[in-house]
This record gives sequence, C-alpha cells and structure tokens, in this order.
Amino acid sequence: MTDHRPPPPEPEDCLIRSRASRYKGGTLIAEDVHDLATHRQRVADPDGYRPCECPRCRGRVLHVHDYPQRTPYGEPGLPPVIIIVRYICADASCEATWRILPAFLARNLWRVWPTVERTVRTRAPPPPAPAPVPRRTARRWRERLASAVKQLVLLLATSSGVLLEAIAKRTGLAATRLALVDVHAQMAMPPPGRHLADLAALVHRLERGIRLM
Ligand SMILES: [Zn+2]
Repeated sequence: MTDHRPPPPEPEDCLIRSRASRYKGGTLIAEDVHDLATHRQRVADPDGYRPCECPRCRGRVLHVHDYPQRTPYGEPGLPPVIIIVRYICADASCEATWRILPAFLARNLWRVWPTVERTVRTRAPPPPAPAPVPRRTARRWRERLASAVKQLVLLLATSSGVLLEAIAKRTGLAATRLALVDVHAQMAMPPPGRHLADLAALVHRLERGIRLM
C-alpha cells in the first residue's frame, strides 16, 4: 500500500552539522554516567573522566584543563550549577580540548534528558519544577522529533553494529526522528527516562556533533 503522507520536514541545521572535523576538540559524552552522584565522583577524581587518548591526534597524554559549569534548569532536586571537566591534549602540536558531559545532560538544550523526555513523551502534567519548560520550547522539541530521520538512519546503518543496523532497517529512511526513538526503545531497550539520552549519546558517538534533537 502506498503511503500518501507528506515526508517529514527536514531537521534544523543545528541538528545535522558534524563537528568531527571542523573543530579542534569538542564534547565527549560519558555514556555510563546517568546520575549526579556518579558524575560528582568522576569529576572529583582527575582520572575520573580522562579519555584514554585524544580523539584528534590519538595522543595518550591529556591533562585536566579546567572545570566549566553547566546550568541545566528545571529538574526538581538538581543543583543550579553542575561542574564538568575539560581536558587538554598534552601534544604541543595538537592541544585539543575535550569537555566531558555526563549522559544525563542534554547537550545544547539547557536541560537534563529526564526533563526533556518527560516533556515530549508524556501527556501527564509535569511535576512542580523550579523552571517549568515553556510551551514554545516544548513545541520546538516536538517539532525536532517530528523532522526527518534519514541522516541518523544512515549513520546507524553504516555503524557496523548488528543491532544498530537492524534498528536502522526497521525505522526506514522516510521516517521521523520520533519513530527512531520508538524503534530504538523497542530493540535496544534503554530504561525509562533514558530513551532520548541513550540514543542522543549513541548518535554523538557515531558522528560528533550530530544531534537527535
Ligand atoms: Zn591531541
């Protein structure tokens, strides 16, 4: 049967630009860090988040560079400021800097992923929060998830991962990003609250800078 629905709109530019080659250094996501307590332990230890090599030059020596702050708002129980750590490659011809984000921080969204997921995935009224998600922001997030998934499906399809290739195949090139979230949730089975975080981290790992939403 032919599907006569119009194709999903193209995603915004900010979601589809790779940062892998244009930037010296960037963001790495610690995919195993899902709570603040673990994050704080890792930041407190200079080795806690230290990459084993520089993703740019493959140099093996990286030093702690500084401790930038992130201010994700609106999640009950979360402090207003979260300290993260940035490392610098010790190779004088490289000196790339790498900031490490715990998986629960939603890159570029100024929120943590549980807040985003609750907003876009549930119809229930949000819990009382210090900074509720404005309706315009929620709408923008939903629009991003309703945009075309093609680039992400191609990324997964060429990842050499059996499960990821299967997820790409089942989603299909003409689907929306939300459809990929659903298929990934069914097949990779991330825990509740991590449907977006796990997929976003995966996409960023496959091609740094590419965003789910
Ligand atoms: Zn380097």
